[in-house]
Amino acid sequence: LFEHLQGLSELPNASLDECDVKLLINAGLSIELENTHSSDDDGVGLYRTEVPFMMRERFPSEKEQVELYRSMLMVDPNKTITMRTLDVGGDKPLPYLPITEENPFLGWRGIRLTLDHPEIFLVQVRAMLKASLGLTNLKIMLPMVSSVNEVDEAFRLVRQAFFEVSEETRDSGQTLAMPQLGVMLEVPAVLYQIPQLASRVDFFSIGSNDLTQYLLAIDRNNARVSALYDSYHPAVLRALKFIIDQASRLEKPVTLCGEMAGEPGGALLLFGMGYRQLSMNRHSLLKIKWVIRSVTSSEAEALVDELLQMNTPEEVREALNLKLEILG
Ligand code: PEP
Ligand code: MG
Repeated sequence: LFEHLQGLSELPNASLDECDVKLLINAGLSIELENTHSSDDDGVGLYRTEVPFMMRERFPSEKEQVELYRSMLMVDPNKTITMRTLDVGGDKPLPYLPITEENPFLGWRGIRLTLDHPEIFLVQVRAMLKASLGLTNLKIMLPMVSSVNEVDEAFRLVRQAFFEVSEETRDSGQTLAMPQLGVMLEVPAVLYQIPQLASRVDFFSIGSNDLTQYLLAIDRNNARVSALYDSYHPAVLRALKFIIDQASRLEKPVTLCGEMAGEPGGALLLFGMGYRQLSMNRHSLLKIKWVIRSVTSSEAEALVDELLQMNTPEEVREALNLKLEILG
């Protein structure tokens, strides 16, 4: 099977009826990028910047961050790298920023924390911008957004950082480009603010891991209830369909970067809903490429029509597995 998948390497990421699907990777360590020959992926859909922060004993300096981000952007300047601003809190603690809370997942995490500490946010965004000097492949996105005013405040800080870095690098002879800016859709409240958000951002990215957790009110790390955690729950599927329909109408690009994008059944159903950008762990990439190349868009759409009528995740999974078997 592995050889069979390797043979796909030079072929386009497209369905049988030639619908292009961007297959992107999720990264947290620059190693994951440098180790690869780069013909398979279409760039990085999610760079979890908290990972290098978690591996240190103190906040990395602006200079250290510039070096790290520069090395990511330079792997292939023709491919986009979507950097997410720091997403700590919840299940991702920083050893040097201890937070004790009764409900960490409903607490001080992601954009909430960095807006309360604009100095952390500004240093990080300045470092991203400095790293991108002379390049045009940086995108920046915000985690855990629940309100429009968070986006306005954060983008105001991004513009401030852009102004500062432009001034500081004026004599470098290299151009500083304003990156595309986006938000993660992972808190259910944003489902009802898509038009308002769309008028502010260049792109959306769905965090289906957190969206599932918050939509179903299930802490995936709590063993008593984790069996109920399922991204194929009918409510999650309908939410995903709702998002892609609204975003398409508003002509905003959407990537999905949660775990389901890297599962064959998940990718099949997302493609059938109309998703054309999926971001996943690198090891899933060729498998998902195979799934996309084995199906037509109308076939996948017809399957989704059926799946959206189902009442349990088990039925959905069974139908997806059956379809995957038929595809080979
Ligand atoms: C998600 O929530 O689906 C996501 C991609 O972000 P993380 O897993 O880092 O919270
Ligand atoms: Mg998330």
